[in-house]
Amino acid sequence: MHNLRRVLECAQERRVAVGHFNVSDLVLLKAVFAAAQELNVPVVVGASKGERDFLGVHEIANLVRILREKFDFPIFLNADHTHSLADAIEAASAGFDAIVFDLSALPIAENVRQTKEAVEALKNINPDILVEGEIGDIGTGSEIHEAAPDLAKGLTAPAEAKEYVDATGVDVLAPAVGNMHGMLKSMVAGQTKKRLDIERIAQIKNTARVLLTLHGGSGTHDQDFKNAIAAGINMVHINTELRVAWRRGLEEALVKQPTEVVPYKILPVAVESVKQVVRSRLKLFNNQQ
Ligand SMILES: [Zn+2]
Repeated sequence: MHNLRRVLECAQERRVAVGHFNVSDLVLLKAVFAAAQELNVPVVVGASKGERDFLGVHEIANLVRILREKFDFPIFLNADHTHSLADAIEAASAGFDAIVFDLSALPIAENVRQTKEAVEALKNINPDILVEGEIGDIGTGSEIHEAAPDLAKGLTAPAEAKEYVDATGVDVLAPAVGNMHGMLKSMVAGQTKKRLDIERIAQIKNTARVLLTLHGGSGTHDQDFKNAIAAGINMVHINTELRVAWRRGLEEALVKQPTEVVPYKILPVAVESVKQVVRSRLKLFNNQQ
């Protein structure tokens, strides 16, 4: 079994991207794994701080490990948006394959200093672990937002990306290239799409020469994804779209079966609803359609 670095490098050689999907319960995990298994493509499961607090750090680490071992399948686990070294160390010690060490809210010099320290500490725990750093502003929660943030001010500059990667030693960089966390109501309704700055992605890739992750992928224009992957994106994060599908599936099941109380008769509808979204995104990222 290849480690996650090798999986991302293979994706880079093949000009495809690895799908990263956040989970906060077993419905989401089952849906992500089933879709990846069906398409036979590697997949990364993400659990942010809030998601880890709900799931349990060791609990989710062991669930993903069991799937990987039982099915001999390339499923990996990322500690998404981790804001302190203590939380990062906890996830690395529990067996996570990757950590997003996100100090993008701090001034850049402080972000560099603390991220460099974190890279050293985390590699001491697991030399194979991938540490991802973030600069620029891609907004906060994977939720439905009322108003569009002004993304223009927080875009990542290619020269700054190179300096940051060289100074910190991160394995992966999460740039701000028109992407944002969460979705606007018009995006949930399918009326508008996020658009990406493809030229900036290509410039960052050519300058910083590092693996690149696209955060906040929910609601992005399909052609922009394809162009972004061709320009150098190696992993794409989807969360909000899964949360929307989770809620819709659950509501549909409860309406259809108003007197049912057996969870395993209700929840498969939610699994299927989420799985459809994961399958569609994995096909796109892996050039399968
Ligand atoms: Zn993110």
